Amino acid sequence: MRAVDIIMDKRAGKELDPGQIKFLIDGFVSGEIPNYQISAWAMAVFFNGMTAVETAALTEAMLASGSVIDFAGMTGPFVDKHSTGGVGDKTSLILAPLAASIGIKVPMMSGRALGHTGGTLDKLESMPGYNTSLDAEKFRELIARNGFAMTGQTKEIVPADRLLYALRDVTGTVESIPLITASILSKKKAEGTEGLVLDVKFGSGAFMKDAAKAEELARSLVETGKALGLKTIALLTGMDEPLGNMVGNFLEVEESLDCLEGKGPEDLMEVTFELAARMAVLGGKAANSIEGRALCEKAIAGGKPRELFLKNIDDQGGNSAEVIKMRGNFRSPICTELYAKQSGIIGHIDAWKTGHAAVTLGVGRNRTEDDVCPTAGVQFYAKRGAKINKGDPVMKVWAATEEGLKAALPGLQDAIGIIDEASAEKTLSPNKLILKEIG
Ligand code: URA
Repeated sequence: MRAVDIIMDKRAGKELDPGQIKFLIDGFVSGEIPNYQISAWAMAVFFNGMTAVETAALTEAMLASGSVIDFAGMTGPFVDKHSTGGVGDKTSLILAPLAASIGIKVPMMSGRALGHTGGTLDKLESMPGYNTSLDAEKFRELIARNGFAMTGQTKEIVPADRLLYALRDVTGTVESIPLITASILSKKKAEGTEGLVLDVKFGSGAFMKDAAKAEELARSLVETGKALGLKTIALLTGMDEPLGNMVGNFLEVEESLDCLEGKGPEDLMEVTFELAARMAVLGGKAANSIEGRALCEKAIAGGKPRELFLKNIDDQGGNSAEVIKMRGNFRSPICTELYAKQSGIIGHIDAWKTGHAAVTLGVGRNRTEDDVCPTAGVQFYAKRGAKINKGDPVMKVWAATEEGLKAALPGLQDAIGIIDEASAEKTLSPNKLILKEIG
């Protein structure tokens, strides 16, 4: 078999057989097939898609590239959640300790920033010392101790996703339903979870721009998840505007702490509670999502999730006391504010434009080998629906470099849509974040 023939088959729109797919993935992981051939194949998949059989074969091949965590001897329920990617989406950081606090075990294996979207691992690593490369033994030990642990793909666990994810990030091959499906589900199956809540985002800041495409992705994820033996539910949630008021690695850790202290912004808490409610249902802790939500709201009010979050920071190599001290201070000195150019109502803050600008600020990567900046990002003072006067500050912006700041500002200014009050009354509908449940 030759990689080039497989690439040409996919380029011609042919269905690949599982053997061809396994050959590519195994060769990629062993280093025999170079990045440029895998990039070309990923682009062919991007344009020509994959059948359900191919998607399942790709997921299996990626899963088989490493070992699977075994929780034998430990009592569950084991339930995780995964998002298809958004801007300002820090729900994982809040959900993991929240679900753990109601008796669910959360083996969370996440990714880095991808395209214009943020990555849980980059956010966690913005806390000095925090280790996101746990080996299987440590992962299990921490889950047994605190009910959750957060790690990334490693050389042992789904190495194929670690490599392919990084390559897709910089080759314009992220927004592909089969590649997203295989990436997410190979990780989720390998981490040993039994149940999975998927947050499938749609809107300008999501990889799927419209709800119909997001539903297609949700169905692909739910069907493939179930075929792998995972109890899977997907929620379609809106991503036209960044979630919460902070976009950036440490900024999002800070906002997660606010949420765990019961001071989280409404939009972020809405999505967090709805996802957590489904985790409670899948884990058998609630009969339905209304009961699940009430349980999770009570848990946040009681403070246990915050306690578990801080304990996890210490147990994964960070220093929670330092993190608390860094709140409000750990910021790049290269910063500025952006102001409203007219009076009126904020009609939108565009998530895609914000996400792209955030990469330029240093929150994400342009090349796989780039480092991200922990202290870069954006804080919104006002979002959709807010009344604003010309000259009022709308956001504060921090960048890794002066050049990054200069390059990002036009996109950020452009992300702010202000409309007059009369048209806001007619056109600004309530921000409906939860569209539907699938699964
Ligand atoms: N999240 C993942 O883990 N993989 C993707 O491809 C997209 C979002």
